[in-house]
Amino acid sequence: MSITERQNLKGARSPDAPGVIKDQSLPRGLFADYQCRSCLKQDLELVVDLGFQPLANSFLTRESLTRMEPTYPLTMLYCTHCHLAQVPAVAKAHDIFSEYLYLSSFSQTWLDHARVFVDQVVNRFGLGPRSRVIEIASNDGYLLQFVIEKGIPALGIEPAANAAKLAEQKGIPTRVAFFGKETARTLRAEGWTADVAVANNVLAHVPDLNDFVSGFEVILSKEGVASFEFPHLANLIASAQFDTIYHEHFSYISLSAATKFFRRHSLRVFDVEKLPTHGGSLRLYVCRENAGHSRSPSVDAVLGEEESAGLDRSDTYRGFAQECFRIKNDLLKFLIAAHENSKLVCGYGAPAKGNTLLNYCGVGTDLLAFTVDRNPHKQNHFLPGTRIPILPPEDISARKPDYVLILPWNLKSEISEQMIHIRDWGGKFVVAVPQLNVF
Ligand SMILES: [Zn+2]
Repeated sequence: MSITERQNLKGARSPDAPGVIKDQSLPRGLFADYQCRSCLKQDLELVVDLGFQPLANSFLTRESLTRMEPTYPLTMLYCTHCHLAQVPAVAKAHDIFSEYLYLSSFSQTWLDHARVFVDQVVNRFGLGPRSRVIEIASNDGYLLQFVIEKGIPALGIEPAANAAKLAEQKGIPTRVAFFGKETARTLRAEGWTADVAVANNVLAHVPDLNDFVSGFEVILSKEGVASFEFPHLANLIASAQFDTIYHEHFSYISLSAATKFFRRHSLRVFDVEKLPTHGGSLRLYVCRENAGHSRSPSVDAVLGEEESAGLDRSDTYRGFAQECFRIKNDLLKFLIAAHENSKLVCGYGAPAKGNTLLNYCGVGTDLLAFTVDRNPHKQNHFLPGTRIPILPPEDISARKPDYVLILPWNLKSEISEQMIHIRDWGGKFVVAVPQLNVF
């Protein structure tokens, strides 16, 4: 590699510089017929092409290792009309979510986050035994358990039967269903309305955004409040969080884009909070257009920040692919150097984002021997695509790796505290996004 090429890899952003990918491999016209998931218009631009990848949560069993594995193109597009960034749907929602292995209760950070949120909502909206709380994608009941504890009636809606069963075992009424207009109508006919409807980290995961959002128009009581959390598109772009792109994550949302799709269904955003979760999320409070909740100044503040960041302009998205390429190069250079120096590198965690990263970078067991996860449902499975084995965390103590690559970088503080004993044998932690960091 020439010096010029090396310098270019270090961060030259000029699209004409040698050694830097000039354009994406997919022709621009490829998405000419694709309709925006929100506004249904057909003028989308390609932001990044992450190659062919399996579904990020389709973990493999030992028996399935000898079989073919479906892969689909993974591309992020940007709608020039309503500003929603999105991944085209390639598989049916049923294939993706009916046996979901991510169980929220295995992360202490998420449990604490849920408990604080429930306290906040109960106080702010004066919830009591006559109120009704619904949670969409209630998982194993990690959040509703805190609502029920306070004597407030609650109902979970969860498409993954295995997670719903665990919630029921904890005494949390749970319906196995996808949420949308039809489910909302059924619940309403049964007498259910929601004073608070919680949909944390689900909005981004629904393929039919308009059907999903319209369900809240049906299920909310007159002054009812819906709360939505999702990773903020501003952070994805600013910190090159490309590994949060995967097939099951359909929409990458800004407040500006959200305001538009809520308005389409007679709903309005009256408050917004910024959260540190998932590398920077937004929490929106939404009500019916004619409800009495007054608009917080934070709504215009965040809209202003998004405008300054250029989230509503196509050119903002044009350098993003270069950033992905830079992260890939830095991680590969690190892993190859570690391999050449006979160092053992393993992963920590088996999150969806880890699968996007490893598949995009083409890392297999040659460079990352194994990963570990606290979730027993993931243990003794293999990462999709890369087929890296997932072992219990105890394997780190047994095999004493020199480096532990933390795949869920959003939980790096929690994980590096839990795994502090790797220092006993001189082990170090590594994260790859937003830049390679060995600590
Ligand atoms: Zn659109």
